[in-house]
This record gives sequence, structure tokens and C-alpha cells, in this order.
Amino acid sequence: MEPGSVLVVGSLNMDLVVAVERHPKPGETVIGGDLQRFPGGKGANQAVAAARLGARVRMVGRVGADAYGAELKRGLEAEGIETTEVAEVEAPTGVALISVSAGGQNAIVVSPGANARLRPEDLNPEPFAEAGVVVLQLETPLETVRRAAELGRAAGARVLLNAAPAQALPDDLLAVTDVLVVNEFEAARVAGADEPEGPDAALALARELARRVPVVVVTLGGRGLVWAGAGGEGVRPAFAVEPVDTTAAGDAFVGGLAAALAAGEPLERALDYGSAAGALAATRPGAQPSLPAADEVAALLGGRAG
Ligand code: ADP
Repeated sequence: MEPGSVLVVGSLNMDLVVAVERHPKPGETVIGGDLQRFPGGKGANQAVAAARLGARVRMVGRVGADAYGAELKRGLEAEGIETTEVAEVEAPTGVALISVSAGGQNAIVVSPGANARLRPEDLNPEPFAEAGVVVLQLETPLETVRRAAELGRAAGARVLLNAAPAQALPDDLLAVTDVLVVNEFEAARVAGADEPEGPDAALALARELARRVPVVVVTLGGRGLVWAGAGGEGVRPAFAVEPVDTTAAGDAFVGGLAAALAAGEPLERALDYGSAAGALAATRPGAQPSLPAADEVAALLGGRAG
């Protein structure tokens, strides 16, 4: 695959994780294990996913003038990601406070911090002109996401919106989106419908959403994905793997899809490329550490012809 150019506009978070026997009740204190620190945020995860798969990636985002911000920026740079548009603002770096119980359940408090300060007027149009694909999620203000989509559309880039975390979307954002990627839960929120049960219902929902966006992809975890759009529709099975931790499988999928589309791959091949990246991420623990390299994806894809 020729390297394509991907611009990611989105969130950078530091994930702070503590293992607990059980989650505290309101007003209660529990003692946990040692604090662990992991770089995260959907925007940054998707940027790293695309970069590991060979794309030239530039990130637009905001961090605080603090140690976490500096660490997150350095981490992206170590992946070869261009960070001149990741500026510091007067707010703390975004943080996710995560406690994990012995039963494996997460309780999470997100403090968006600097991510919430990325305003539409802060977006520099220049990097959009160079991008083949612009990748967006919903962890920065919605007005900013819309402005980024408009800038991408005006520059002739393909605008890929991953509508996560789930929320309803205004028509004027969907009008400047080329590819919408949602899981079943997010698809239901965007469509204002019930969560689809099974691939047939997911495909029906994708068709409905495809009246508002050229291409709609609904991911179904270990059951693969369905897509619908002007160019047709289809069902793609997942790659058979032994899942260990599906954290960031969705981000790996989006990064892989973006890298493949930016490289000029046709849609169905790009969907398989993203699926292979998602499947590999599901076989390993963690978010960014689990994101696969291009040769691993190529090896998994090699087993599926066409
Ligand atoms: P999200 O994390 O956003 O809910 P999904 O869980 O649907 O996203 O995962 C995105 C894609 O990653 C899926 O469409 C699939 O291709 C791949 N994937 C996720 N989980 C698995 C799994 N257990 N086995 C194989 N592929 C998987």
C-alpha cells in the first residue's frame, strides 16, 4: 500500500488506571493497586493506528501546559506523527480516571480538559489541503467537529466521522461527512432508533443512515461489519482471532480504514484492512500498545483473497 495522508482532528487523554477489589460507593474510600498511566483519547489512538499502518499522519488537538500533555505529544512524535497543530491551552490535559474491579468491570470518569477548548476558529485550514482523509470523532466540541468536516470537504479530502462516544448528530454535520463509522449502539443513537439485533437489522439501519451520508459502516465486533451507501452494500465477516481485550479495536478499525482509503484502496478492501487491524488489536491488552503494524495486517489479510 502506498502511504496516504491522514489528518486526525480529535482528543488526547491520559488514562489513569487503578485496580480495585470493588468500586467505592458514594462517600466511601477504597484502597487500590499502583497507579498505571496509558496514553489514550480516541483521536490519538486513531492517529497512532493509522501511523503504524504506514500513513503519513498529522494530528490536530489541544493539551494542557503540564507533564501529561508533554508526554502525550512526545508519544505521538515517537510514532512519526506530525504534532505542530497540537497546541497547549490554559486548561489541564484531558484525563480519564479509570478503576477496574476484580470482576473486570470499569468505572470511568472523563475530564475532557484541554480537548473541550479546541474551538472551530482554532482550526488552521492549511493542513486540510494536504490530507487525503480527515478523521473525526466526538471527544472534542461538536461545533469544532463540524468545522473540521467543512474544511475537509472544501479541501477535497474524504471526511471519515467515527460517531463515538454515541450521540445524536445534526444534519449539517452528516451533510459534510463522506464515511460514517459507528458500532451498533452508536448507529442507534445517530438514527434515533432501537439498537439493532443482528446483522440484518444492522444492515437495515445502515441503509436508513445512508440516505444522509454517502457511506455508512456499522461495526459488529467479533461478527464483523455491514456497510451501505451509494456504491452498494455488503456484509463483511470478522477475521477469526482469539480475543483477549477488545479495547481500541474500534480505533484500530478506524485508523486502518483511514490509512487504506488515503492510500487509494477501494472501499471493500479498505474495510477488510480496517477489520484486520481491529481483529489484531482485540488479541492484545491495552489501547495504543495493542495497535498492530502494517506487516501484521498484511499477513492476516493474506489469508483472505480478494
Ligand atoms: P467498537 O470498539 O467501536 O465497538 P467493534 O467492537 O465493532 O468497535 O470493533 C471494530 C471492528 O474490529 C469490527 O468490525 C471487527 O472487524 C474488528 N473486531 C472487533 N472485535 C473483534 C473480535 N473479537 N474478533 C475479530 N475482529 C474483531
